[in-house]
Amino acid sequence: MKKKYIGAHVSAAGGVENAPINAAEIGANTFALFTKNQRQWKAPKLTAKNIAAFKENCDKFGFNAAHILPHDSYLINLGHPSQDGLEKSREAFLDEMQRCEALGLQLLNFHPGSHLNQISLEDCLDRIAESINISLDKTKGVIAVIENTAGQGSNVGFMFEHLAHIIDKVEDKSRVGVCLDTCHTYSGGYDIKTEKGYLATFAHFDKVIGKNYLKGIHLNDTKKPHASRVDRHDNIGKGLFGLDFFKRFMQDGRFDNMPIILETPDETLWKEEIELLLSLAKGE
Ligand SMILES: [Zn+2]
Ligand SMILES: [Zn+2]
Repeated sequence: MKKKYIGAHVSAAGGVENAPINAAEIGANTFALFTKNQRQWKAPKLTAKNIAAFKENCDKFGFNAAHILPHDSYLINLGHPSQDGLEKSREAFLDEMQRCEALGLQLLNFHPGSHLNQISLEDCLDRIAESINISLDKTKGVIAVIENTAGQGSNVGFMFEHLAHIIDKVEDKSRVGVCLDTCHTYSGGYDIKTEKGYLATFAHFDKVIGKNYLKGIHLNDTKKPHASRVDRHDNIGKGLFGLDFFKRFMQDGRFDNMPIILETPDETLWKEEIELLLSLAKGE
């Protein structure tokens, strides 16, 4: 059955088991979360109690693991130019994958990485692919979901070709995917705001990457103009996109049955935003 799965990146403060409770409160039918403190390299292991309570709360509120989109720590750079930085990132990423595995989750969303102006773009993309291969070898059942970026600073992954380059070098194609962030797509150089640009961008995605790789969406409005390469999310309808864009997006069947996650800055608006987006989907 075709269905819209929409939620937000909710807090897991006090334990991962609180995330489904927070998501249910805003009327979401999916959610994103950090499975550990995203600003620290190391975190205590998830306990059997955390894991059982997380699964119990997901069941209780009707969240299906297939639509939950956990996000890794912002500290991780899988394309790090230095050997030390790369090893530290790979170790932390494996821990993130194992946490998802323990929670019975099937997706892990992450920002690809940055060359820090010390290595070439291609070398950075190759390192990211190798990092993914290493973590896939040591885990089972979790798909590594690469997020496109706004291309701020030395971040790679703002062109679809970058993502295709990484995917091409990942050995197990069944365990790699893409999450498109609408704010990053626009500031990264794709004009999805107009109908013509929207259609051209997703046709280009299909051609360069392939629609089968699309596993989720971060649905954000943007404060910064097209191709600005600056990552500033805005609340739905408050930024530059306009409601016509959100209506077009919500009525587009290619985004059925995958997580659509809000990462909009004012979280007090999430409940209203979800209601608004669902009404746009129905053409109200
Ligand atoms: Zn995002
Ligand atoms: Zn962003």
